[in-house]
Amino acid sequence: METLQIGGVSARQLADNFGTPLYVYDEDKIIAQAKDAMENFSSDMFKTEVAYASKAFSSIALFKLLAAQGLGFDAVSGGELYGMSRAGVDMSKVYFHGNNKSNKEIEEALELGVGYFVIDNVMECRRLIEIAMEKHIQTKALLRVNPGISAHTHEYIMTAKPDSKFGIFIDDTEHIGQVIELLAESSHVRLAGFHSHIGSQIMDARSFEKAIDTMTYFLAYVQREYGMEQTELSIGGGFGIKYLEEDQPISLGQMCKTMVKYTERCIQEKDISISKLITEPGRAMVGEAGYTLYTIGDRKRSGTKDYLFVDGGMSDNIRPALYDAGYRAVLAEKYKEPAWHTYCIAGKNCESGDVLIDTIKLPEAKSGDLLAVYSTGAYGYSMASNYNRLGRPAVVFAGHGKARVVIRRESYADQYDLEIE
Ligand SMILES: *Cc1c(COP(=O)(O)O)cnc(C)c1O
Repeated sequence: METLQIGGVSARQLADNFGTPLYVYDEDKIIAQAKDAMENFSSDMFKTEVAYASKAFSSIALFKLLAAQGLGFDAVSGGELYGMSRAGVDMSKVYFHGNNKSNKEIEEALELGVGYFVIDNVMECRRLIEIAMEKHIQTKALLRVNPGISAHTHEYIMTAKPDSKFGIFIDDTEHIGQVIELLAESSHVRLAGFHSHIGSQIMDARSFEKAIDTMTYFLAYVQREYGMEQTELSIGGGFGIKYLEEDQPISLGQMCKTMVKYTERCIQEKDISISKLITEPGRAMVGEAGYTLYTIGDRKRSGTKDYLFVDGGMSDNIRPALYDAGYRAVLAEKYKEPAWHTYCIAGKNCESGDVLIDTIKLPEAKSGDLLAVYSTGAYGYSMASNYNRLGRPAVVFAGHGKARVVIRRESYADQYDLEIE
C-alpha cells in the first residue's frame, strides 16, 4: 500500500501527528516557485520585482520564507501589513493595495515605511497626500488603472471590466489626470507609475500580453501628455494553476519570462522608458503547494448521490460554494489504485451548498480513510471561517522529510477568546 507523500512526509503520518482537517504545504514546492519566478522575471532593460500577493495565504512563516528568496509583498489591509512587519520583511518592498484604505491603515502603512501605495481612486489620493503631509513622511505611489481586458476566467473573479470596483478605467482621462496632477503638486507622495491587474486563474498568456500592450500604450500617453519618465509598471498577478486534471497552466517561470520579453518588445516599439516592471503572483506561488487532508466519516446514499462526509468543509474551503471551483482529490493511502466509484464529497457545515467535490471517482472508500484534496494552498486558509464553530485547521509546512506546525489548530477556547461575559 503506497501512501501519498507531501514534502517527503507521508500523509498518514501528518494526519496522525497533527490531526485532520489539516492544511499541508510542501515547503520545497513553494521555494521552487519563488525561485522560478525570481530567475525568470528579470531584464537588462529595467529593474524587476516579484511581489507575492499575500491575500492568497498570509502567514508569518510564509512571509519569512518568501522574503528570504528576495520577494516583495502585496498587502490589502492593515492586518496583512501587521503580519509582514512582524515577520520582519523589508517594508520598502511592500505594495499597499485596496479600494477603500482607511485613514488609520494609511497612517499605519506610512509609519511602517511601506514602499508603495497603490492608489485606487481620487478621494484616496487626496487623503494619502494629506496624511503623508501631516506625518511628514515621504512615500511613493502607483495608480491602479483598469485596462478593461476581459480574461477567460470565472466571472466572479474577473476584475477588469469597465464597471469594476477596482482602479480607474483607462479611458477616464479626467480622473486619471486629476490623480497625476494632485501628486505632481505633492511634496510628500511621488507618483512612481501605474498598476493593473486583470483577473485571476488566467491560463493563457495572451490575456496578459493584451494587458501589457494596453498599459504600454497608456504609458506612452502619460509620458507624452504629462512628461512623466522612468515610469514603473505593475502588471498584477492572476496566473492560473492546476486544479483539475484537464487544467494545463503555463509554469510560473515561463509566464514571467514571456511577460518580461513582451514588455521589452512593447517599450521598444512604442519608444517609451520604464524603470521597473512588477508582477504580483498570489495563487501561483502557493496554490499547488497546498493540500488539505480530511478524514472520511460516514457514508450515505441519498437519491442519486453516494456521499462521503469529511471532517471539514466550506469553513476551510469556501471556493466550491463561492465560485463553483473544482478540485481533484485522492484517497491518500490508495492513491495508485484504480478509481471505480463515483462519490460526492460533502463537508459537515450546515449548508446544502457545502459540497467540496460534486462528482469524483475514487477507489472504494471507507470510514477512517484519508482524503487528500490537491491545490488548496491559495484562498483556502485565508478565506476560512469559524462557521458552525468548527475551529480553523492547523497549517503544517513539510519539506525535506520533516514537518512543522506554522499555525496551530484553533481550539474551542480560541474561538470564544473575544467574548466578554
Ligand atoms: C488578487 C490580486 C493579485 C493576485 O492574484 P492571484 O490570482 O492570486 O495571482 C495580485 N494583484 C492584485 C492587485 C490582486 O488583487
